Amino acid sequence: MAGIYIHIPYCKTKCSYCDFFSGTNFGQQSELLDTMKAEIILQKDYLGGAAVSTIYFGGGTPSTLSVSQIQEIMNSVRENFRIEEGCEITLEANPEDLNLTYLEELKKSGINRLSMGIQSFDNEQLKFIRRRHTAETAVDAVKDAQTAGFDNISIDLIYGLPNQSLQSWKCQIDKALTLNVQHISAYGLTYEMGTLLWKQLQKGEVIQVDDETMNAMYAYLAEACTGNGFEQYEISNFAVPGYRSRHNSAYWKQQPYLGIGPSAHSYNMESRQWNVSSISKYCNLIVTGKCWYEKELLSEQDKYNDFVMVSLRTVEGIDLKKAKAIFGKKRTEYCLKSAEKYIEKKLLYINNESLRLTHAGILISDQIITELIMCGD
Ligand code: SF4
Repeated sequence: MAGIYIHIPYCKTKCSYCDFFSGTNFGQQSELLDTMKAEIILQKDYLGGAAVSTIYFGGGTPSTLSVSQIQEIMNSVRENFRIEEGCEITLEANPEDLNLTYLEELKKSGINRLSMGIQSFDNEQLKFIRRRHTAETAVDAVKDAQTAGFDNISIDLIYGLPNQSLQSWKCQIDKALTLNVQHISAYGLTYEMGTLLWKQLQKGEVIQVDDETMNAMYAYLAEACTGNGFEQYEISNFAVPGYRSRHNSAYWKQQPYLGIGPSAHSYNMESRQWNVSSISKYCNLIVTGKCWYEKELLSEQDKYNDFVMVSLRTVEGIDLKKAKAIFGKKRTEYCLKSAEKYIEKKLLYINNESLRLTHAGILISDQIITELIMCGD
C-alpha cells in the first residue's frame, strides 16, 4: 500500500496565518502542470510497484484547477502507477471555488473525498485572517457537495483565532456538527514566523488567545465531536466510523508515499526527500534533466524518532511490541523510562501493550514527544 500526494501551489489570495508553499501568481501554471506530469513519469518506480491506495491533491488550493486539469494529472498517475480498486482520492478545496456544476464534474472525474478549508463560520474572523469565503459560502459549498453525491467530506477548522472567545469557538463546532460531514480536522492557530499574522503579533496588533482558553477550546472540540458520533483517531482529527482519512492514516502508519510538485515530500521507509520550493526552479531543474529534490537517508535513530512522533499522535499510540521488534530493547526501554513521569501524572497510559496519550496528555503532546524521542544511539 502506498500513497501519492500532489501539491498545487496556487492560491487566489494569501491567508494571513499561512506558511504553506503557495503563491498568487498563476503565470506559470500550464508549464508547471506539464512539468508535474513529467515528474510523475520520472518517479514511476519510486514506490517499487506498490499498489496506490490513496491519492491526495493538496496545496495551495487544488480547487483553483479546472476539472480537465485535474483529470489530466489523474490520467498521468493512472498511466504510471498501479491504482488500487476503491482508491481514496481527495481534493482540498476552498468553498469559494465550488458550485454544483464543478462539484458534479469533479465527482465524475473520480475524486471521491473532499477536504474543505472552512476554518470558521464567523465572517468577522474569516475576514480578519483573509479567507476568501464567507460562512454562508462554506455552508452552501458543503450542501452542494452533498447534492453532487459526495459522501466523504472533511472540513478544516482553526481554534484560537485572535480575539476568539471560548463561546465563539463552541459556536463554530456546533455549527460544523449540523452539516452532516464525515470528518473534522481542527488545529490550534500557530503564529508561523514571517506570515502577516506573525508580523501583526510582533507589532502588538493582535492578542494571542491564552493557553488556558486554548486548552478549554480543545477539550470542547473533543467532547462535542465524540459526543456526536465522531471518533477521535488522531490529535487533530475526528471521523464518523469508517471515514478516517486513509491518506493521513497511511502517513501515521509510516507507509511509503510519493510527493509530486514543488515543495512536495516523499518517503519510502529508507529515506525521505523534498522537492525544491520554487515553481521556476522546479520547472527548470526537471526540464534540464537536473535533480529537483534533496534527499536524506534515514538512520535507525531517525526511524525510531519518526515512529514515536507519528504513533503517539494517533489513538492507537505506540505499539510497544512493534517498537521492540523493530528498534530493539534499548530504545523501547528508553521510551518507557522517559514515559514514567507522564504515566504517573496521568498524561500517558499503557493499554494493550500500547503507550497512549490521555486527554490531558494531548494538550502537552509536543513536550512529551520531544522527551520520548531524545534517545541517543
Ligand atoms: S488557501 Fe490554504 S494554502 Fe492558500 S493561503 Fe490560505 S491557508 Fe494557505
